[in-house]
Amino acid sequence: MPYIHMQKEIPVRGEYDVVVCGGGPSGLVAAISAARAGKRTALIERLGFLGGTATGGYVVPISGFYFEGQRVVGGIAWELVQRLERLGAALVELPRGHVSVNVEYYKLIAQEMLLESGVVLYTNAYLCDCVLHENRITYITFQSKNGTEALSGRCFIDATGDGDLCHMAGVPMLTPHGQLQPVSLCFVLTGVDTDTALLRDCIHHDGKNGKGSCNGEIRDYLLGLARQDDSLRFGGPWFNVLLKGSSLAVNITRAQVDATDRAALTEAEWQLRRDMFRIVELLRRKYPEFQNAEIVASGINAGVRETRHIQGLHTMTLQDVTNGTAFSCPVAHLAHPMDIHAAKGAGQTLTRLQGNCYVPYEAMVASGFPNLIAAGRCISADREPYASLRVQATVMSIGEAAGVAAALACDTNAPVFDLPAGLLRSEIDKRSFVL
Ligand SMILES: Cc1cc2nc3c(=O)[nH]c(=O)nc-3n(C[C@H](O)[C@H](O)[C@H](O)COP(=O)(O)OP(=O)(O)OC[C@H]3O[C@@H](n4cnc5c(N)ncnc54)[C@H](O)[C@@H]3O)c2cc1C
Repeated sequence: MPYIHMQKEIPVRGEYDVVVCGGGPSGLVAAISAARAGKRTALIERLGFLGGTATGGYVVPISGFYFEGQRVVGGIAWELVQRLERLGAALVELPRGHVSVNVEYYKLIAQEMLLESGVVLYTNAYLCDCVLHENRITYITFQSKNGTEALSGRCFIDATGDGDLCHMAGVPMLTPHGQLQPVSLCFVLTGVDTDTALLRDCIHHDGKNGKGSCNGEIRDYLLGLARQDDSLRFGGPWFNVLLKGSSLAVNITRAQVDATDRAALTEAEWQLRRDMFRIVELLRRKYPEFQNAEIVASGINAGVRETRHIQGLHTMTLQDVTNGTAFSCPVAHLAHPMDIHAAKGAGQTLTRLQGNCYVPYEAMVASGFPNLIAAGRCISADREPYASLRVQATVMSIGEAAGVAAALACDTNAPVFDLPAGLLRSEIDKRSFVL
């Protein structure tokens, strides 16, 4: 492959204490958290709105707030839910506490909370590189219609989901385990008769009347078809409420791909779009409930469950979850079962947590990178603990800790991998987001 070499002058658009890359659930909370700690904070996001997979991917509900009937995540994440609730745009479904939300209100309230806290928002801005001085990031660069621009920062938070900034900075990544969880293009259906025995009990994520949220009857029908035609790929299906109107968010398509491989993702997304129409047609033909169903929206991209994981000071293991390892600085209380969607086929394995277990701060930082913190789904974890921590309430808790840690690093000039653990923990306790 031929290469070209380019040199150009890049304007430095702003100077900040903390720069957060990625405005999904973890990034938006990280930015609010750093700004509330008094730091000049910028957030860069490739899309024109906040919420990442939650809003752009129609991934509802928000899971992971409740463990064994008790709420275990508070702080900014819970504040977001409460603000949405006041607008009738969130429904906390007990006992498991999954939170169904209206994604348009989610985008609005996320934006309001960021602006109120003083975060400077750079949306439509694609992080494309960083400048390092002895493993310390001095600038990040991003691309937009204005060309390439740069921001300087004292501390950087990678909340891109895929660990893009860590990857660009040369942070070692865990060896891929070869069984990345699949991607799914979720979409919105209207015109479905949801008040029938087939659908009534499964459209809330917890299931009603003790029934599961995955629709068993439709699943068996699709499994039967897939046995005759292995080009039919699906998962679930899960039908989730969007609260306003009679629309349903549907999670049913599935593809196995490394979503950090542009060409492979492109091909997978084309196929997922074809699959979405094919599956809806199959439902229309078989079930009267879907006869008038119309696809009115689909995720801005395929929803990505898993890609890169940094090699942190500590990599979370299955033992950490089964033994409930006591860490010196826990940043998030796990709540969701270890929820592994099979890399191939329609399978899913759900393993409930047996007791209290936590994500440690050490899984968010890498040795030798003094001003870079990972937040969200790219932190350091093996397959099983990752399958629990990846849900939104947990990654928001991780985001809040990232903001607190970044602010502390600015205040103390200490490397992020060597922060005084007691001080970090007391700041986290003050905010009470790990309950
Ligand atoms: C199909 C599916 C179903 C799921 N179901 C549930 C569920 O029921 N409940 C639950 O709680 N969780 C669920 N999850 C998991 C959850 O949605 C994600 O794990 C969570 O959103 C991860 O948050 P994050 O902030 O780490 O990353 P993301 O949500 O991926 O956000 C990353 C953000 O960074 C931005 N970004 C990425 N790269 C760049 C770049 N280079 N420059 C600028 N911006 C960038 C993205 O646009 C995005 O806004 C599901 C996920 C999928 C895919």
